[in-house]
Amino acid sequence: QKPVPSDIVISRSCVPKPIDKLAGEIGVLWDEVELYGKTKAKVQLETMERLRAQPDGKYVVVAGITPTPLGEGKSTTTIGLVQALGAHLKLNVFACVRQPSQGPTFGIKGGAAGGGYSQVIPMEEFNLHLTGDIHAITAANNLVAAAIEARMFHEATQTDKALYNRLVPLNAGQRTFSPIQVNRLKKLGIEKTDPTTLTEEEITRFARLDIDPDTITWQRVMDTNDRFLRKITVGESATEKGHTRSCQFDITVASEIMAVLALTSSMEDMRQRLAKMVVASSRSGDPVTTEDLGVSGALTVLMRDAIKPNLMQTLEGTPVFVHAGPFANIAHGNSSILADKIALKLVGPEGFVVTEAGFGADIGMEKFFNIKCRYSGLRPHVVVLVATVRALKMHGGGPTVTAGMPLPKEYLEENLELLEKGCSNMQKQVENARTFGVPVVVAVNAFKTDTDAELDMICKLAKEAGAFDAVRCTHWAEGGAGAMALGEAVRKASEAPSNFKFLYDTELPIVDKIRIIAQKIYGADDIELLPEAQQKVERYTRQGFGNLPICMAKTHLSLSHDPEKKGVPKGFILPIRDIRASVGAGFLYPLVGSMPTMPGLPTRPCFYDIDLDPVTGEVKGLF
Ligand code: ADP
Repeated sequence: QKPVPSDIVISRSCVPKPIDKLAGEIGVLWDEVELYGKTKAKVQLETMERLRAQPDGKYVVVAGITPTPLGEGKSTTTIGLVQALGAHLKLNVFACVRQPSQGPTFGIKGGAAGGGYSQVIPMEEFNLHLTGDIHAITAANNLVAAAIEARMFHEATQTDKALYNRLVPLNAGQRTFSPIQVNRLKKLGIEKTDPTTLTEEEITRFARLDIDPDTITWQRVMDTNDRFLRKITVGESATEKGHTRSCQFDITVASEIMAVLALTSSMEDMRQRLAKMVVASSRSGDPVTTEDLGVSGALTVLMRDAIKPNLMQTLEGTPVFVHAGPFANIAHGNSSILADKIALKLVGPEGFVVTEAGFGADIGMEKFFNIKCRYSGLRPHVVVLVATVRALKMHGGGPTVTAGMPLPKEYLEENLELLEKGCSNMQKQVENARTFGVPVVVAVNAFKTDTDAELDMICKLAKEAGAFDAVRCTHWAEGGAGAMALGEAVRKASEAPSNFKFLYDTELPIVDKIRIIAQKIYGADDIELLPEAQQKVERYTRQGFGNLPICMAKTHLSLSHDPEKKGVPKGFILPIRDIRASVGAGFLYPLVGSMPTMPGLPTRPCFYDIDLDPVTGEVKGLF
């Protein structure tokens, strides 16, 4: 077997076709394409409108077993599968993947464009900046943060009347409300259009948001792993004297605006979601929104290009949408609904759209179904569950691995005993997928040290657990040709009867919804609500957010809340520490343990290897 070169070397060895040519090939009209250089373009939402009458293609979601530090290869398999279906089986295809955060690219993980001969190219464009969507989110998010701070500052230093006069200024001798202010009046139940007729009590209610600083949930963000921003104090300058406040930075992809981008279905819908985001409570306990702050229109303007999916291509020239990349714990970890919808129209009824869900199936896939599909109305035909021999061995009790150290021999030599034990995790995740009534194909992503007996064992045990099929694939080493069997299996599964159902009804009480996920998907005996969480259940129910779907913020490294527990943990009670709300995105997220929202850099971050060749202008060292 020839050695497989590094991802960036493979990526660069292939000359991508001009992106406008690809757009033409897949049926996007010239005026629906916005070029960002030669290898990236945005596709306008008009494409979806134009093809409204066209039936959708087949919808495939790629999920995985419970992740381990050994890597499973979900992105690689997503790309390998579309290369097989498109370039080899000659079907119309689209891959829809998340845009990676630059934090991990420079930090610990490296790129996320797939790997080996199954990649999105050019990978340096994919992994860095892309078309600026994440930067737009950073700008929009921090505008909200600035708006909160400034509003509290001005409210603290001005009388009600002075505030009102500044908020509704005299313009050519007349005061008029802006459209956003008209919305606020409606919300307050003040049915007046003439600003001179408000009573004193109405002026106070209108002008004062009266934000309780202890309830602020909105944080500043940036797309860099900067652990020293996990806790900061703002307002230290003499000009803001007396208004210091302790807060934090999150990584940009943890912003609610990222989740909004991923879940929105149109420009109008995005405007509404950007208005509904709750940033804090007032001192009297009412939710304070971005619309109350008057900033929702400006947010929509900042996000108006980001809403359009980004077109790129695989190594084998098939189309890819790279769009949105919400955190997979405090958010739902799936690429955008809009990209999937446009892709499903473009491929037509015989074609396939393969979309990826982050983390293991207990998290990414569960949220794909219960949150993303609920909002999109789309119904998947097939789940592909990615498994690897080495990761399953770790679930079977294999030794832990340390970054930078050689892999222990358990992972490099045949060990059927460890593997058989660990397959329990794959079997549970197959059952989880089947709970939703969708056929499952297990893709065994083969590494060169895997033996035939090991690969066969996974396939056999997958089928015993009820998988529609289970096949080994070698797309990392061979590209689409190595995923032909997977492609055929997915095609067959897509014709099998699918009987999709949600796991829970959103109208159930918050606690019941959490318990259903914990028991049916994680295998918990029960849940335990800690006092903070109990309080939030009461608050959100009272505020009218009780009917939102649930987005569990749980470790991805175990089916339980304890990352050390591999395989299929039994006999545990899932502790719910707190619950937060992303009202604009449209979900409640219970915190199971503490969830870091700002990663740190390791001792030797990936950036040590990254450089630019000053002669050729090529990026070196990305992987
Ligand atoms: P995930 O999406 O599950 O996080 P990725 O697809 O990003 O995983 O793959 C993680 C890493 O593992 C990548 O660097 C990729 O190149 C590598 N990888 C994936 N599959 C294989 C394989 N079969 N052999 C060797 N390396 C692989």
